Amino acid sequence: MTPTDKPVIIIGGGISGLACARHLHTRGIPVRVLEAGSRLGGRIRTDLKGGFRLDRGFQVLQTADPEARRTLDYRRLELRTFAPGAMIRIRGRLYTLADPLRRPGALLDTITAPIGSLADRVRLLGLAWRVTRGSLETLFQQPEATAMEFLQAAGFSEAMIQRFFVPFFGGVCLDPRIRASSRVLQYVLRMFAAGEAALPAAGMEQIPRQLIAGLPGDCFQTGVSARRIIRNGVALDDGTRLPARALVVATHAPETSRLLDLPPGGASVAETCLYFAADRANWHSAYLMLNGDGDGLINNIAIPSMVSSQYAPAGKSLISVVLLGNPDLSDESLVRRVRAELGDWFGREVDRWAHLETYRIAHALPDQSPPTPNPYRLESPRLPGTFTCGEYENLPGIQWALLSGRYAAEAVRQYLGKGG
Ligand SMILES: Cc1cc2nc3c(=O)[nH]c(=O)nc-3n(C[C@H](O)[C@H](O)[C@H](O)COP(=O)(O)OP(=O)(O)OC[C@H]3O[C@@H](n4cnc5c(N)ncnc54)[C@H](O)[C@@H]3O)c2cc1C
Repeated sequence: MTPTDKPVIIIGGGISGLACARHLHTRGIPVRVLEAGSRLGGRIRTDLKGGFRLDRGFQVLQTADPEARRTLDYRRLELRTFAPGAMIRIRGRLYTLADPLRRPGALLDTITAPIGSLADRVRLLGLAWRVTRGSLETLFQQPEATAMEFLQAAGFSEAMIQRFFVPFFGGVCLDPRIRASSRVLQYVLRMFAAGEAALPAAGMEQIPRQLIAGLPGDCFQTGVSARRIIRNGVALDDGTRLPARALVVATHAPETSRLLDLPPGGASVAETCLYFAADRANWHSAYLMLNGDGDGLINNIAIPSMVSSQYAPAGKSLISVVLLGNPDLSDESLVRRVRAELGDWFGREVDRWAHLETYRIAHALPDQSPPTPNPYRLESPRLPGTFTCGEYENLPGIQWALLSGRYAAEAVRQYLGKGG
């Protein structure tokens, strides 16, 4: 094997590794993707159960994510969108907070909802306007604080913060104390203002599948776990040593720091997601529902089958329920507690819902408290010929995973171009 026959080895078959592999492949550089799990896609997976499509942890694609627009073919993903806004539960009633330009019909409810003062609404419009100005690169160079500090400094009332920002942004960053960076908050608001929250019609796993489709079938190996990085290659769990022209470590942050003996990244935040089946729930529109009361376990509820009918068999609805963290309860007690809370939201009909699955995801995202890295920078090698992509010293999310995959591919290309 000549040095140029050796592939670039990518450890991790999540979307960052797949994006990196695709960029290298389109430039004629042979790649090999090693994935420890039985399936590619990493944290974006869709399980099929009794005709329902269960994403492993409720998640959405923001259609305005610039790198997703650049990398993915939205038309082939057959994106289906949530209604622009959210329903917020306050003192037992659901209020709609909708984008007045896109949902003028919900204007009255939006104005009268007891979510904050009129001044809060004006501040929110002002913030939404400000975050859409300027380049994203500039946004990530701004001084940062926690989202909570930023909102307080911007003059939002406690009611607005607790009833809107905590359930909304707490659900995005999986942290009810919203200590994530103000830069991340502004980025998320910008994406909600500029685009829509969407699901591929056949489930979130269609995203990695689309990346896989652009690569030769023989460049993947699943069920193969990298144990450690060695000189010019990688050693696997079974003792095999694979030579590589360059290496890209595209695993989640704790595993990247283990493999490369780097300082640990941010702490992990967890999500627990429960799915229920109901008879058709056409009593509801396709808004995400947030818990604005701040009590109980539930952070948000969605009905993916209202967004794409392929998420449930004919005549049925799929309901996803998201809790932040991983409650210290047995599976049975957890379902009982969540059912009781759902009963408070929707009444006795919840008794007829069937519990389908509970996913407890210990490392759903890394904690995103400041200081956060600037995601717009080219990777420098961690070791000679060894690069990283994904969330280690980067931001989590589909946008950043895809971008870091492209940047890592570019850094590898430059390294190989210099004779590496
Ligand atoms: C519950 C949940 C909700 C989310 N919600 C959203 C959302 O709404 N919007 C959004 O944009 N993002 C969301 N995200 C984040 C987004 O899914 C991730 O940022 C993205 O999928 C990460 O991709 P990745 O390739 O960086 O990492 P991963 O998907 O973690 O891929 C890493 C891969 O490496 C493999 N691996 C690990 N160790 C080894 C080893 N030693 N050898 C070989 N392979 C190894 C793993 O099995 C895995 O397949 C959410 C994530 C979760 C879990």
